[in-house]
Amino acid sequence: MSEIHHECGVAAIYHFQRETPSPLCVEQGPGEISRLMPRMLQDIQNRGQLAAGVTSFNPHRQQLIDTHKDIGSVSEVFRLSHGGKSESLMQEYAGQAAIGHVRYATCGQEDRSYAQPFERHHLEKHKWFSFAFNGQLANYSQLRDRILSGNDHHLTRETDTEIIMHEISRELSGDNRPSLFAVMQNISRRFDGAYSLVFLNARGELMLARDPLGIKPLCYATDDSLFAAASESVALLNIGFAPEQIKSLPPGHVITIVENEIQLKKYSTTDSSAHCFFEWIYFANVASSMDGRSVYLSRTELGNELAELEKKDGSVPIDEDTIVVPVPDTSKAAADAMAYQLGIPSREGLIRNRYAGRTFIEGGADRKKKASTKYTPLREVLNGKRVFLVEDSIVRSTTMRVLLNRIRDFGGAREIHVRVACPPIIAPCFYGIDMSTMSELFAPKFHNGGPLTIEAQAKMASDLGADSLRYLPVESIARATGFTADQLCQACITGSYPTEWGQQLYQIAQSNDGNGGQRTYEAIGDTIRT
Ligand code: SF4
Repeated sequence: MSEIHHECGVAAIYHFQRETPSPLCVEQGPGEISRLMPRMLQDIQNRGQLAAGVTSFNPHRQQLIDTHKDIGSVSEVFRLSHGGKSESLMQEYAGQAAIGHVRYATCGQEDRSYAQPFERHHLEKHKWFSFAFNGQLANYSQLRDRILSGNDHHLTRETDTEIIMHEISRELSGDNRPSLFAVMQNISRRFDGAYSLVFLNARGELMLARDPLGIKPLCYATDDSLFAAASESVALLNIGFAPEQIKSLPPGHVITIVENEIQLKKYSTTDSSAHCFFEWIYFANVASSMDGRSVYLSRTELGNELAELEKKDGSVPIDEDTIVVPVPDTSKAAADAMAYQLGIPSREGLIRNRYAGRTFIEGGADRKKKASTKYTPLREVLNGKRVFLVEDSIVRSTTMRVLLNRIRDFGGAREIHVRVACPPIIAPCFYGIDMSTMSELFAPKFHNGGPLTIEAQAKMASDLGADSLRYLPVESIARATGFTADQLCQACITGSYPTEWGQQLYQIAQSNDGNGGQRTYEAIGDTIRT
């Protein structure tokens, strides 16, 4: 599925001053541990392909912290296909600690100045810092208005990253020297939303924090000498940490590394969680585990649930002409599990063109055109077959409509039965996922919450041009991910938001429905932030 995108991924690495370097250290030594950052960012590139960047700390360099960032994939930004250029970047930004970021933007604002990390230069070392974050502040407009109300401040970008930078700077202003823990505790009291954050200052102090409800993921690992963190565990696995060494930072907790000492503490008074269920369904790398739950196993469980529903219903004949086809790549685990349970083959009937470019920046016709170049149906697999087309979710339906046409006309499929390994998306996301208006969503025109009827699904199937369509019920999500429903954010499938500002924005989004696709933030006098 290619209709929605995350807004970012973060990473951090730090080599302690120890007698013996970590066995995972690069051959150039602990002072150049930042060399691991491009690899880590590549492993979380699924979370953003628009821009990438790194800030490193090096006490032997004139610029104690220094930032390299640009528009492009990790490979482009770090010149990974040019040995000499890449090596010179690695030398220039070598450091014993580093933070990194990959970015996706919901629209426009593709200039370099929006790339993260955001560095704020200052003559005092503890006030000279850089940070990056994954998420979105739902109360952005409130924070922005407060900053601008005094007439003493100016914001140069329409982004909550600048707001966070301002709020951190405010905590560090004057003669006070608050601990990093106190900084995090204070700014979080003013924030409503989702944020996983990494921070590095010119004293070489590192901090990472996860929002009070743990909406966004953040994993970390450490041996005696090396500490690393990333939005997803796969980045830590691939630099050499064992699965047992990798943990999720609990919601509302902060890790600080100051003077070679690491501390993990809770900064929030909240005891509940609201992990974004979409991480397991679609966003995260299938090789990742977050909050103790494997993405692969969760998707497999969703496929089992789809198979159970099929067995109960029995309206689609299961015979030698019936096959399961996943929409690559994120639906594959669910499709394979469904096929296995039904005793029919899961076949690669759609080939994804990995070089077709992004389908999500352009709207309307362009999005459709791009979607049609992204997948090629395989006639050799599809011709004359009854196809269960398994998709991880349907957001706007642009991709699904294009696929159905191409599978039928080009692939020669006899019947197409769409099976969605997720409930209908009926509400926008205000926590950092690219779907923030009601009008852009497919499902609300047919279904607005509550039990999903056979009639509503039949209308959706006919609107899309499928022979039938079936979603999973909301309850499947908690079962498949192994959480209880109240430990998850399921706002986009229930309309019930885990934060006050999320709920308020939803009300505005509902009253703004049909307003020409105007985004909720625009409806309250704001512009889009990314
Ligand atoms: S609204 Fe949906 S996509 Fe957004 S954080 Fe909640 S579960 Fe995730």
